Amino acid sequence: MDWPPLRAELRGVEPYGAPQLDVPVQLNVNENPYPPSEAVVADVATAVAEVTRTLNRYPDRELVALRAALADYLGHGVTPDQVWAANGSNEVMLQILQAFGGPGRTAVSFAPTYSMYPEYARDAMTGWVVGHREEDFTLDLGHARAVIEEHQPSVVLLPSPNNPTGTALPPEAVETLCAAAPGVVVVDEAYGEFRRAGTPSALELLPAHRNLVVSRTMSKAFALAGARLGYLAAAPEICDALRVVRLPYHLSAVTQAVALTALRHAAELLGRVDDLRAERDACVTWLREQALEVADSDANFVLFGRFDARHAVWQGLLERGVLIRETGPDGWLRVSIGTPEEMAAFRTALAEVLGLPGPAHPRTQDHPHEMQRTT
Ligand SMILES: *Cc1c(COP(=O)(O)O)cnc(C)c1O
Repeated sequence: MDWPPLRAELRGVEPYGAPQLDVPVQLNVNENPYPPSEAVVADVATAVAEVTRTLNRYPDRELVALRAALADYLGHGVTPDQVWAANGSNEVMLQILQAFGGPGRTAVSFAPTYSMYPEYARDAMTGWVVGHREEDFTLDLGHARAVIEEHQPSVVLLPSPNNPTGTALPPEAVETLCAAAPGVVVVDEAYGEFRRAGTPSALELLPAHRNLVVSRTMSKAFALAGARLGYLAAAPEICDALRVVRLPYHLSAVTQAVALTALRHAAELLGRVDDLRAERDACVTWLREQALEVADSDANFVLFGRFDARHAVWQGLLERGVLIRETGPDGWLRVSIGTPEEMAAFRTALAEVLGLPGPAHPRTQDHPHEMQRTT
């Protein structure tokens, strides 16, 4: 037997690895660039000290207080028995695949889509089928319905806003796919709080669709990626089913205390979301002014291109102290939205790498060098 005795489909597979490099400007994993305030730090420290007194005991495995606080935060009439939480929405999603996927079953998404979905499917020994998106990264509903009708998936995974493209799904699309799908339809709203005005949340559709699951996280808008807290809203029977596959006491007392404290400071932790949305829209405008292709974004990142040699562009930025993400379809790159200073550093570095006139100077020529660009 090969050693270690890894499952055949895991042999030679690289673990998830967005590079964690120590560079001055980190715009690669869609984090909120603003750390918690000293007031939040002090309250979290107090809450952790308090819970430490009872760390000899197992935590509340039903997360009662936390589910109530998350239901309150979500609004839309969501009740605590419609909420479930785990260590990041990555764990929530894995639990969904463990409960509703499995051998002989299929999960479906539409590319480009979140790179982790096929890994959850693989880990839960679930078949993986991926349809496609249109040129502008919107969903072709006719195609999506056809894929669902053909493969009868027990799980459909729809990031909205989509990662890595930033594209949000209109509610009609969610309704159509909920009606077409025989199993659960997960609308992954990891970036939901960054939606542009007028883009509704799928939470509004929960009462009408018993198979709809809306997934959220505290890792992005909430500025709490390090705490690892993801959650979902769905019908109570879906939450109950997930309790069957979760590990005993999966969510530590410390995590529950940190998340509860953070939720009490929601207004403050989310206080920079509007700044980040404005910075995102400015970034889209600037990139388009440089004659680059840019996907519309409802998230805190922007997908732009296209480059014949995107790795060289990525590398050039890195050499200038700016780390972005080499992801998405061939020729595209993704930049997370940082502080105004970080975005200025990004623009300067990109202008240098592409030989553009540069953000700080007026354009002096009509035909900037189009070194890396495809037409
Ligand atoms: C970042 C992200 C998540 C969140 O992951 P966590 O485990 O909650 O940190 C979920 N879905 C998508 C599409 C993401 O980009």
